[in-house]
Amino acid sequence: MNVTIDDLPVRDELRGKSPYGAPQLDVPVRLNTNENPYPLPEPLVERIAERVRETARHLNRYPDRDAVELRTGLAAYLTKTGGHPVGVENVWAANGSNEVIQQLLQTFGGPGRTAIGFEPSYSMHGLIARGTGTGWISGPRGGDFTIDLPAAEKAIAEHRPDVVFVTTPNNPTGTAVPAETVLALYEAAQAARPSMVVVDEAYIEFSHGESLLPLIEGRPNLVVSRTMSKAFGAAGLRLGYLAAHPAVVDAVQLVRLPYHLSAVTQATALAALEHTDTLLKYVEQLKRERDRLVAELRALGYDVTESDANFVQFGTFADSHVVWQKILDRGVLVRDNGVPGWLRVTAGTPAENDAFLDAVRELVSYVG
Ligand code: PMP
Repeated sequence: MNVTIDDLPVRDELRGKSPYGAPQLDVPVRLNTNENPYPLPEPLVERIAERVRETARHLNRYPDRDAVELRTGLAAYLTKTGGHPVGVENVWAANGSNEVIQQLLQTFGGPGRTAIGFEPSYSMHGLIARGTGTGWISGPRGGDFTIDLPAAEKAIAEHRPDVVFVTTPNNPTGTAVPAETVLALYEAAQAARPSMVVVDEAYIEFSHGESLLPLIEGRPNLVVSRTMSKAFGAAGLRLGYLAAHPAVVDAVQLVRLPYHLSAVTQATALAALEHTDTLLKYVEQLKRERDRLVAELRALGYDVTESDANFVQFGTFADSHVVWQKILDRGVLVRDNGVPGWLRVTAGTPAENDAFLDAVRELVSYVG
């Protein structure tokens, strides 16, 4: 029997849609999903094995439902690096920041409610909105891909969304959003409804500027979301977290599945936190490589968007998909995010970046 999705009684809003689908191709140089190119250091691998072995002895039991030890460790990391003291009561963790965002939308969005993002931005915000029955509003961005504040304020006043996403540094464009802009959006969002403002800081460790974590002080409707997938080099771990007023942490617990964070995940994340200093040294190296990519691409004559992240948006091309394919033909996978004229490359190891630069050097003639 040849049955497809179309034959199933799926929700109307899912009909004809595609899942998130960054290609996972087996090519020599993969610079398409903003991962950290460095494998975890061996002493950390050993420590993970140790912690997981100990945890395995108790896998007959459910894990700590509230992940208190892990949240305490994450709070200590944020306090040390985020410019603002936070406690365990301010922090919540889930399986990747995608799940954090899903829990936020289940709590503050949902049927009859809406969320806004300023696009192009992280496509999963809109996809998770759809998955949680939240209406999605595509807000505007300026020609240079920064947030056009008057236009954004106008969109908030007009649509009165329940959730406002601000991604800083933004993905796929790379540029950080100044604190004043986020504060102005927060004020606009409070005047319109009031609504929750989610500041997605997945890439903040790579930024030239500071985290917006201190903004949670006195602003219970502001949430900062983070991940161990990028700076910590642990995308495979699936560990995201948020910092906010303790009331937000209480609220997301209304929708989280019981025992959502496995004991193995908690043990692994705790091991990674013990090695924060070593892991963050790679961040410095990746920032240097990111800056090198920006400089070399510009020297080749490409347009490059300012980057505070571990990736770089470059262009412009008459047909970016053709260029994407030509780079792939040279063994380098970059990302076509569907932003007309632009592509995105993740900063890899120096050798990977050299391979990428060699590939694009031959393509300058395609610049539109
Ligand atoms: N936010 C942004 C802006 C991202 O780019 C990503 C991953 N590409 C995520 C959140 C989700 O990351 P994870 O679920 O791995 O924490």
